Amino acid sequence: MEKNAIHLENIPLSELTTIGIGGLAKRVSYPMRTETLIEEIQTCRKRGEKYVLLGNGSNVLASDHGFQGTVFVTKHLRDINFQGESLTVGAGVTVGQLMRFCLEYSLSGWEFMAGIPATMGGLTAMNAGACGCTMSDIVQCVTIVEQGVPTEIPREGCDFGQKTSRFLQNREVILSVRLNLHRAERKEIEDNLMRCMQRRSHLPKGRSMGCVFQNTAGRSAGSLISCLGLCGFRIGDALIAHTHGNFILNVAHATERDVCALIDVMRNTVLREFGIELKEEIRYLR
Ligand SMILES: Cc1cc2nc3c(=O)[nH]c(=O)nc-3n(C[C@H](O)[C@H](O)[C@H](O)COP(=O)(O)OP(=O)(O)OC[C@H]3O[C@@H](n4cnc5c(N)ncnc54)[C@H](O)[C@@H]3O)c2cc1C
Repeated sequence: MEKNAIHLENIPLSELTTIGIGGLAKRVSYPMRTETLIEEIQTCRKRGEKYVLLGNGSNVLASDHGFQGTVFVTKHLRDINFQGESLTVGAGVTVGQLMRFCLEYSLSGWEFMAGIPATMGGLTAMNAGACGCTMSDIVQCVTIVEQGVPTEIPREGCDFGQKTSRFLQNREVILSVRLNLHRAERKEIEDNLMRCMQRRSHLPKGRSMGCVFQNTAGRSAGSLISCLGLCGFRIGDALIAHTHGNFILNVAHATERDVCALIDVMRNTVLREFGIELKEEIRYLR
């Protein structure tokens, strides 16, 4: 019989995040079914224990001191159900898995996500976007855990904003997401994909969290930082990418401390020189 969850102890968060930084997580749970995730979340809540959800860890900076609670990793929650024009995807479905499914069934509307190293839960919680679209454009409803029961939240109730949603603000657990997609010719989907992938081709390669800061007041945070000549600036093993002012790369064994020091330099210099207050897009796991 399939196990309900895999449980591990003292796992380096550096192995669960794309930037490869972070101390030990006391406990990591990989639920295989949503029912198990719900049960385990309820147990943590009743006992007042700390917990956090993690998709692919692509927008997360984890503490050097680790996390004294349970990290729920959703990667095994990857059911995909297709009915009519809507597709219900488990929180742990990755963009790559979605892409393969949609190409097979000629579904369009999701192509803007191509190339983002993320899961549907993380993308929805963060209201991630690219190529002029965000998740809020295609989400029909989101199923979360409310008082131990799966509950559907329609799009209008999701409070999507710039790189945020009610799920992040209230620390709610996303189990699955229903997406509004439409049928299209395979050629049209492939053309859209190509266009979106081309726009990403300039992004720096290496271990990162994507963009560190949100764009603000119609200004690109990356261009503000580049203008100040900060590209290539390095603290420890954390480096501001040479070709993108909003990317921090872990070039060897960077620590959270290195990255936070670099973030302070970026934020303080932009504030001093332009009077603009940058706000982080990344999430801290502490
Ligand atoms: C190379 C690179 C390129 C990127 N490009 C883009 C881009 O083009 N556009 C963009 O918007 N972002 C981009 N990102 C950032 C990142 O991929 C997105 O923010 C994405 O939404 C994070 O998804 P994830 O599954 O990795 O979530 P994680 O990083 O694991 O988590 C992000 C947040 O969501 C929460 N979360 C995760 N799963 C759940 C769940 N099931 N229920 C509730 N909360 C949950 C976490 O607790 C955390 O607060 C990029 C990152 C990298 C490394």
